[in-house]
Amino acid sequence: MRHKLILWDIDGTLLYSGGVAGEAMRAAMTRVYGRSSDNERRAYAGKTDQQIILETFPDRPAAELLSQLDVFTATYLDILSEWAEAFRTRGRVLEGVVDVLRRLRAEGVVQSLLTGNLAPVARLKLDLMGIAEFFDFDSGAYGSDSPRRIDLAPIAAARAAQRHGRVFAHADIVVIGDTPNDIACARAAGARAVAVATGPFSIEELRTHAPDAVLPSLADTGTALAAILAE
Ligand SMILES: [Mg+2]
Repeated sequence: MRHKLILWDIDGTLLYSGGVAGEAMRAAMTRVYGRSSDNERRAYAGKTDQQIILETFPDRPAAELLSQLDVFTATYLDILSEWAEAFRTRGRVLEGVVDVLRRLRAEGVVQSLLTGNLAPVARLKLDLMGIAEFFDFDSGAYGSDSPRRIDLAPIAAARAAQRHGRVFAHADIVVIGDTPNDIACARAAGARAVAVATGPFSIEELRTHAPDAVLPSLADTGTALAAILAE
């Protein structure tokens, strides 16, 4: 039994949503908050959903925007549920992911999420892609917990400790993600950072942020396991 806590990012790491989740998010923002006065369309990768809302409406007070977070979350879930078929058709689980999740489960590690997605949205995405069974959702941290991704690793570590009745040493926590923000998040918590270049950042770009390991993808199961478990 290995006492490790593996925290997965979702978008660009476990799956691609084929643009469907981003469209659902924008539709939900328009429905709840109205049109943004800011015409610049920003990149979402590595950001929390709360951060995306704040950046989309920069001229409105954060407290006002976030006071409607529950309504926003319900609306986003409704829209993404309506678009489930498009999500399944246009999206996909990334190459090698299921094998790596399976092998880690066999190792007896705790696997959860560290993602900018709002918690129920994270669950819906993984459900729709058929990989929800691998995750202990209550040991993770989500975009619903804070607008700042850097806050999320300690939240996940505390939840996992509470749930499993043991403290996970910093060195036994692994954060896997596709952006420099994921690496920074691991660093801030003293966790191991594994970067995968299956999102918008190349191996070279990710390497400049000094992760403990960087992989082109998770397609090579043996290499991925060695990078994640530090063996
Ligand atoms: Mg990502």
